[in-house]
Amino acid sequence: MKYSELSDAYELLESTPSKLAKTDIVANLFNAAGESLQQVVMLSNGRVFPDYEQIELGIANQLVIKSISKATGIPQKEVEKKFTTSGDLGIVVEHFVSRKKQSTLGNEILTVEKVFTVIQELARQTGKGSQDRKMSLISSLITAAKPKEARYIIRTLLQQLRVGIAEGVIRNAIAKAFDVNPQSVERAWNMKSDFSEIALIAKKQGEKGLEKIKLEIGKSVQVLLAEKSPDLKTALESFENAAIEWKMDGMRCQIHKQGDKVLIFTRRLENVTHQFPDMVKMVKKCVKTKECIIEGETIAVDKKTRRPLPFQVLSQRIQRKHEIERMVSEIPVQVNLFDVVYVDGEQLFEKPLHERRKILEKIIKPDENFRIIEQLVTKDLKKAEKFYKDALNANQEGLMVKNLDAIYIPGRNVAGGWLKVKPTMENLDLVIVGATWGNGKRSGWLTSFVLAVRDPDTNKFLECGMMSTGIKEKKEDETDVTYNSMTKMLKPLIEKEAGGIVRIKPKIVIEVACEEIQKSRTYSSGFGLRFPRFIRIRNEKSERESETMERLNTLYEMQKK
Ligand code: AMP
Repeated sequence: MKYSELSDAYELLESTPSKLAKTDIVANLFNAAGESLQQVVMLSNGRVFPDYEQIELGIANQLVIKSISKATGIPQKEVEKKFTTSGDLGIVVEHFVSRKKQSTLGNEILTVEKVFTVIQELARQTGKGSQDRKMSLISSLITAAKPKEARYIIRTLLQQLRVGIAEGVIRNAIAKAFDVNPQSVERAWNMKSDFSEIALIAKKQGEKGLEKIKLEIGKSVQVLLAEKSPDLKTALESFENAAIEWKMDGMRCQIHKQGDKVLIFTRRLENVTHQFPDMVKMVKKCVKTKECIIEGETIAVDKKTRRPLPFQVLSQRIQRKHEIERMVSEIPVQVNLFDVVYVDGEQLFEKPLHERRKILEKIIKPDENFRIIEQLVTKDLKKAEKFYKDALNANQEGLMVKNLDAIYIPGRNVAGGWLKVKPTMENLDLVIVGATWGNGKRSGWLTSFVLAVRDPDTNKFLECGMMSTGIKEKKEDETDVTYNSMTKMLKPLIEKEAGGIVRIKPKIVIEVACEEIQKSRTYSSGFGLRFPRFIRIRNEKSERESETMERLNTLYEMQKK
């Protein structure tokens, strides 16, 4: 196919807002693509590699400016000046090529294949002299291009195509062009995140071919996602057979193993194998099957205490490209597995979760850092709430409530039987106005704390909840606040004491997270907090700066909506 046909389509797409009309344009394009179908499909989405290949074009404005100058003979300064006024190097190149082309117009016919191959070649240039080689390749394309073609080549290179065709349009266009069902295209895409291959199969083998598409080890599969549940009770009641797991605060990982080869993808299907050689080792040691695709949440843990650390710590590992070994020992990780979708040639999507879990347990020999996530199978709200508190206490996000009878449906916009439950309210700054003395091993410490908001009209503090979650018995991390330190801080502020209950002078402000604000008769504010959890002491705030009654009311109304 001529590249000019593709750039005409791009232009048309740019001026067509309707999605339906866009789908028609793209479907016509796919139909007309002939032998170039795969390249046209990829380029229509502004790419030259499928998602899972993770090859970045990495082309900067400056390199393009130099290449334009080289190809057209226009001084770099002039190109830069034009760029400053137009802000779009696509327009800039088009302008200079059309000026130059008056003399040399129509010499070469640029094909889609040619553009596609050169861009792929560009992406593969690395190491010494790669910038020069890239510049030569870009300027060779510019030299061969007509003005409009040059506009879209440069926009593709800079990943600024912006012709408004998202995945949905491509899916529907494939369906329309080759007369297959959009759902079959979607299903195929979930297995094989590469529209170019899917389009070819749809064209050559139709619906039947699409149905036969299976996942392949090494090519990332779209993952099952969770929906939000308003609260734990609703989540538990949603399924006849529910299993509950901690919702860990880490990175979703999809691990592919084929013999000695291991690949690790994130939820967005980025390949992070290079960053996690420790995980690769764990997989080799603990996975007792030749081939599989398993999923879990990887979290960072403290080097000494092995306690979970927040996602921000792990993200340093994900972004790291150099000195990987040092990072491995500085920020160790723990993998918490929760699913399996493929084992030794068999796809497990159609099996219910309880069966997949059994299979997972069979193929994994867990160790301290490569574990199968703990599951609680219960319908008992009390037990589930205790599990929820434990998760929050361990600084995890909340819970996942999973339907044990549900199959694995990969991809977006599908209800796959996972409900997430986590505190959603914004954190509140509240004042401690009371506490109770603990018993047993907690005796001698104040353990539950009465929280209050300020009523600006009367300047009184009105109670809104009791909190003990989030305070630690022993200090294990720098940021931990213990019962002991809370007691020391509050003891001098005790105003009254009776029957193990103390009243505390309103002075100390703490930040508290909670799941919900409820109406309550128990507390003088008329509100109660559900699952309040200590976040930190707000030394910098005085009691006068704590949340007010009015604010609590507003938040309550907001959450109802
Ligand atoms: P969200 O990103 O809030 O939609 O929640 C879904 C994400 O939670 C998944 O993609 C996982 O990365 C993460 N997650 C943490 N713990 C679990 C678990 N036990 N089961 C499934 N997903 C989990």
